[in-house]
Amino acid sequence: MTFELLGEAHRLAASSGEPVCAIVLGEQAAQSYRQLWAYDADEVLAVPMAELDQRDELLYPLALAQLVQTYQPSIFLIGGTGFGRSIAPRIASRLETGLTADCTRLEIDAQSGLLHQTRPAFGGNLMATIICRNRRPQMATVRPHLMQPLVPDFYRRGSLTYAEVRLPENHLIQQLDLRLTTSESLSLESAEIVIGIGRGIGSPRTLPLFQDLAKALGAGLAASRAVVDLGWLPYMHQVGQTGITIAPKVYLAFGISGAVQHLAGLAEGTYIIAVNKDPHAPIFQVADERVVADCIPLAEALLSMAKPKPKPERTA
Ligand SMILES: Cc1cc2nc3c(=O)[nH]c(=O)nc-3n(C[C@H](O)[C@H](O)[C@H](O)COP(=O)(O)OP(=O)(O)OC[C@H]3O[C@@H](n4cnc5c(N)ncnc54)[C@H](O)[C@@H]3O)c2cc1C
Repeated sequence: MTFELLGEAHRLAASSGEPVCAIVLGEQAAQSYRQLWAYDADEVLAVPMAELDQRDELLYPLALAQLVQTYQPSIFLIGGTGFGRSIAPRIASRLETGLTADCTRLEIDAQSGLLHQTRPAFGGNLMATIICRNRRPQMATVRPHLMQPLVPDFYRRGSLTYAEVRLPENHLIQQLDLRLTTSESLSLESAEIVIGIGRGIGSPRTLPLFQDLAKALGAGLAASRAVVDLGWLPYMHQVGQTGITIAPKVYLAFGISGAVQHLAGLAEGTYIIAVNKDPHAPIFQVADERVVADCIPLAEALLSMAKPKPKPERTA
């Protein structure tokens, strides 16, 4: 996401003429500076404080708001990841500036020099372009996987500045342990193949079939909001406007109608194979391969093909 943001910042800087600065926090922060230069950061601002080693939803906004107050950028971009979406409003409220969340396009207006921040609105039915006329910085979170990183140039050089911030001595949150969940969704955002399931799978009893199929294909498992609202899978699997954005090479959609809010979570260029028993389902308008069928027997057939076959026993 960092490299996507740098690519986008580079494009905006070409219009505004301002330098691109990347901020890194944590004791080892400065180590990544050459890589950040390569992806077009003109400046790297490093805050090498051990207190910032863990991504902390209270300390990060404190630190970042202080840096913004000191260095006064005109634009401040944050990745629209779960963590980014959590800290961005806290920073914006500290700075008393506006924030446009989940932008899908950013442009500098040639006449006013203002940042035009575009994002889906009204359930994805229209795109709203929002400006922040009077307050600074102009802040936006950017939807992952939509912006292109630059091709890195490892001969590129920039500047490296060390900075300090003031942090409270008695922090409200103490992290005792860090445990990663073993959910399939861990690989969802980076998976090359993703299986998406919708209400059309009929009932949570059919879930193991799709979980097994995902495993057999080495795929991530995604869901429509209907599936999540029904409690069949946790929210972290939800793809779409109010879920995550994914950019697999292939998306296999089983029993998903193809509402715009769901499709908003699929990056352009994804090869969509849709299975739906309704030949008029909206997903068929965007699918590259259309299969009009009951998704359960089809998934069972796919699973039996994908499962490794037992080797035939040798007879002497
Ligand atoms: C503000 C807002 C934000 C939203 N955000 C999201 C979001 O982030 N993500 C999201 O997914 N949705 C989102 N939605 C909801 C979205 O509009 C749809 O309601 C939702 O995507 C529908 O989910 P679905 O396709 O699983 O269910 P349905 O619309 O019920 O479709 C089920 C499909 O399965 C097919 N089917 C039924 N049985 C079978 C079978 N046996 N075999 C094959 N096909 C079968 C049906 O023909 C149908 O097309 C949002 C809505 C709003 C208003």
